[in-house]
Amino acid sequence: MSNALKLKNYINGEWVESKATKYEDVYNPATKEVIGQVPLSTKEEVDEAVEVAKKAFEEWKNVPVPRRARILFNFQQLLIKHREELARIITIENGKSYSEALGEVQRGIENVEFAAGAPTLMMGDSLSTIATDIEATNYRYPIGVVGGITPFNFPMMVPCWMFPMAIALGNTFILKPSERTPLLIEKLVNLFTEAGLPKGVLNVVNGAHDVVNGILDHPDIKAISFVGSKPVGEYVYKRASENLKRVQALTGAKNHTIVLKDANLDDAVTNIISSAFGSAGERCMACSVVTVEEEIADQFIAKLKEETENIKMGNGLDDGVLLGPVIREENKKRTIRYIEKGVEEGATLVCDGRNRATDDGFFIGPTIFDNVTTDMTIWKDEIFAPVLSIIRVKHLKEAIEIANRSEFANGACIFTTNAQAIRYFRENIDAGMLGVNLGVPAPMAFFPFSGWKSSFFGTLHANGKDSVDFYTRKKVVTARYKTPSFE
Ligand code: NAD
Repeated sequence: MSNALKLKNYINGEWVESKATKYEDVYNPATKEVIGQVPLSTKEEVDEAVEVAKKAFEEWKNVPVPRRARILFNFQQLLIKHREELARIITIENGKSYSEALGEVQRGIENVEFAAGAPTLMMGDSLSTIATDIEATNYRYPIGVVGGITPFNFPMMVPCWMFPMAIALGNTFILKPSERTPLLIEKLVNLFTEAGLPKGVLNVVNGAHDVVNGILDHPDIKAISFVGSKPVGEYVYKRASENLKRVQALTGAKNHTIVLKDANLDDAVTNIISSAFGSAGERCMACSVVTVEEEIADQFIAKLKEETENIKMGNGLDDGVLLGPVIREENKKRTIRYIEKGVEEGATLVCDGRNRATDDGFFIGPTIFDNVTTDMTIWKDEIFAPVLSIIRVKHLKEAIEIANRSEFANGACIFTTNAQAIRYFRENIDAGMLGVNLGVPAPMAFFPFSGWKSSFFGTLHANGKDSVDFYTRKKVVTARYKTPSFE
């Protein structure tokens, strides 16, 4: 094993070698090259990081909020300066195209910008007279050590939903990045340190299940932010809640897009293609089902097929590539099994991604199924790959009924020029993030990332004011000040 490739943990302001006995290979999914070895750290290393973070909290919580915010401003400047380098690392370890990686970096920066508003966001409220001579004031305080567990598909944006805000509000943080995309975090941590972050405030423990369990069970970790798949999110939510922690678990999706007959079809097709096949469909906001009105279905599908066949596949660092590889060989095989299942269950293949699969990386082509029904596995499961299902519907009401049958309810979109239809869609669809005439309705940092149903477990979502509530606790002071007598 080459020492140069071995990733380390970041504890108390230093990169330290893990005590792990096992390491996992990290690949460039576009070339299959091993680009790193990530330690599967132990529970003891989590304990060590928590001890450090607990100690750091005692000082960090007392640093005046505007001073903490200034470090966030410095961090934001450094991220802007290094944005191209960050995007390159994302493309190399995740496989998404460089332009999408740049977009992801921008999203992460926006989270840091939002967190830099901590002095305003942390303000409490007060009422000068709640009874004669009595007033009440509500103050916000950080909660302590927070644990973050993140997925492979957004190595920068998702961690940035968590640690910048938690830290700006005065908490200290233990991050466990995805073992499949653990490289970027080193750069983020180094830039945050350069920005002036004191040691012990942000710690990184690399690994898999053992580290997650260590975080979920540790009595000194007060809150858990998780983003990942539904089964793991459900497990995290249950175990951490049983340990009496605050939990927010953002999980899987099966996002439906409705195309009505009055839609601008060219726009709909372009947006749906980039939503379904960009980032190889490995996005929790990816469009995975289109419900299209029968009258325009043939025309819509013909356009979609033509544009899909023209998609440029390849290494995300190459110009013009839309569709990169999926993250690992097993994800490619899993995708092929879903395509076989779709055929077996009677859906009609319009584009068969197996024909464009190549072995130089974990590449699988874009796949489109027509005549999908809600009893099919390809409709029910989150495939998390470039596979799109189409269902022909009579009208908007039927389209909404179908979407609402899914166990997931992350995002949903509509393409139409009819304002009444848009309002009806908004009022009746079960999903937390809606798009009108656009493909990926991911809210910006100052709004909550607000999945419903099995797409989210918890009460307060990531981002927006929800994140301020999640990472703070309140103290309400009721005080009597007798009116002085001047006689
Ligand atoms: P994943 O659930 O496999 O992994 C997420 C994290 O959980 C990783 O850090 C991983 O190490 C850990 N983990 C995995 N299995 C575990 C286990 N058995 N016990 C304890 N910890 C475990 O998810 P992924 O494949 O990295 O990411 C893709 C998933 O994330 C998709 O389902 C996607 O929809 C979801 N996602 C959701 C959102 C959202 O906002 N709702 C955003 C991004 C990704």
